[in-house]
Amino acid sequence: MRQDRQFYIDGRWVTPKGNGSIDVFSPADGTRLATIPEGNAADAADAVQAARRAFEGWAATAPSLRAEYLKKIQEGLKARTDEIARTITLEMGMPYKLSQRIQVGSPTATFGMYSRMLSDFPFEEQVGHSKVVREPAGVVVAITPWNYPLHQIAAKVAAALAAGCTIVLKPSEVAPLNAFLLAEIIHAAGVPAGVFNLVTGYGPVVGEALVADKDVDMVSFTGSTRAGMRVSELASASIKRVALELGGKSAAIILDDADFAVAVKGVVGNCFLNSGQTCTAHTRMLVPQSRYDEAARLAVEAAKAYRLGDPMAPETTLGPLASKMQLDRVRDYIDKGRAEGAQLLIGGASLPEGVNPDGYYVQPTVFGRVKWDATIAQEEIFGPVLSIITYKDEDDAVRIANSTVYGLAGGVWSATDAHAETVARRIRTGQVDINGGPFNIFAPFGGYKQSGIGRELGKYGLEDFLEYKAMQFRPATKG
Ligand code: NAD
Repeated sequence: MRQDRQFYIDGRWVTPKGNGSIDVFSPADGTRLATIPEGNAADAADAVQAARRAFEGWAATAPSLRAEYLKKIQEGLKARTDEIARTITLEMGMPYKLSQRIQVGSPTATFGMYSRMLSDFPFEEQVGHSKVVREPAGVVVAITPWNYPLHQIAAKVAAALAAGCTIVLKPSEVAPLNAFLLAEIIHAAGVPAGVFNLVTGYGPVVGEALVADKDVDMVSFTGSTRAGMRVSELASASIKRVALELGGKSAAIILDDADFAVAVKGVVGNCFLNSGQTCTAHTRMLVPQSRYDEAARLAVEAAKAYRLGDPMAPETTLGPLASKMQLDRVRDYIDKGRAEGAQLLIGGASLPEGVNPDGYYVQPTVFGRVKWDATIAQEEIFGPVLSIITYKDEDDAVRIANSTVYGLAGGVWSATDAHAETVARRIRTGQVDINGGPFNIFAPFGGYKQSGIGRELGKYGLEDFLEYKAMQFRPATKG
């Protein structure tokens, strides 16, 4: 049974303290899909207190026991893959086939990864006469967005549970339904009461109440830079540990010696994945001045190949945007791109043909001859909008790639990996894909500059939820 009128607190489904509710809309046709409770400060306090009470017991469990729970959650997710993929497609619009692989496959793998990691993670080491132990950071508040909703939840929840932390999750109000399914799975796995808690609601209300709560030790936030700044500000009042995964404006540099047919298609695919609603999306394609015409032609060809439409239809490769707000925002950016003089090569702000006019659809759009400092080349759009920018030489390409306030991701394409790597090392971002190298959940994920603080996934993500403690022993006296 779907429990989307209650919160999961202290191991039980409970009635919210407030009586507000939030409607969840279908991006495919704009109809109301579900209603969830709008949490308030009293709900936030209840959830934090439950997590606080559970902390000491959970922190003291053996890593092998936590590994068993994580494995059960992994199995629970796997068993319900189709249902969860369908839920995420309905609430945020990624084509169903991709949802199965990415929106459910990735979080399932993440729980499995942390379960296995616990078998040999070094929680203790000897440093001279000190024993250094790694202990859970405490009660964690996890606040997450809607674009890869369960993946972003799993990166925090699986790692925090593995570390021995207890959690209060506040998922995005735009795509919250998957989080209710996860709570059911965690409950069915037998995770002790209070270790994982779920409340829903608006960021400035329940989110801020959670972040400000004095009984919270750490906040792990993924979302916009604007909200991340507010979270940091509130958390600083009680010196909470803060991990932030924020926005991006990533550049893919195509070097002169690259195979342009492969590289341009790869960049367009990266940019348009999830209708451009990916924080690491390569939204700026940097090409040598002399190769502009070829790159522009190939990009238009690649963009034309996308089938925009109902995300549940098997032939769809590009779904709608997740919300009406996102649709308006992306269309505004397309208008701004034209107003600032970029050449519209394909797409545009007008409503696409052949799709439900009440859905949140936008045409796949490519701009050419975009100036490196234009608004669409500097700000995160979060839609299927690619900007082609030309560079004079490799130094110029690196300068342009590094010219935004963000530093999340990027890509370099070249005839050889070695050549691409020399350029990749000069890019100030947390990730760089070489010749289209795929995403790796074992590698650290996170950003430089205004893209965030800290790293998720792999052993680095586990480490983010741990404190160090050093115990000094009296060296044995010789003699
Ligand atoms: P958002 O910042 O509006 O919301 C993210 C979450 O924060 C939601 O749960 C929201 O309710 C909450 N929130 C909003 N204001 C808050 C406040 N004042 N206090 C506490 N919580 C608050 O972002 P969004 O629109 O959901 O997601 C899109 C943004 O997220 C994009 O900018 C994107 O780049 C970024 N993002 C980053 C990553 C990453 O890993 N770096 C991943 C996904 C999305």
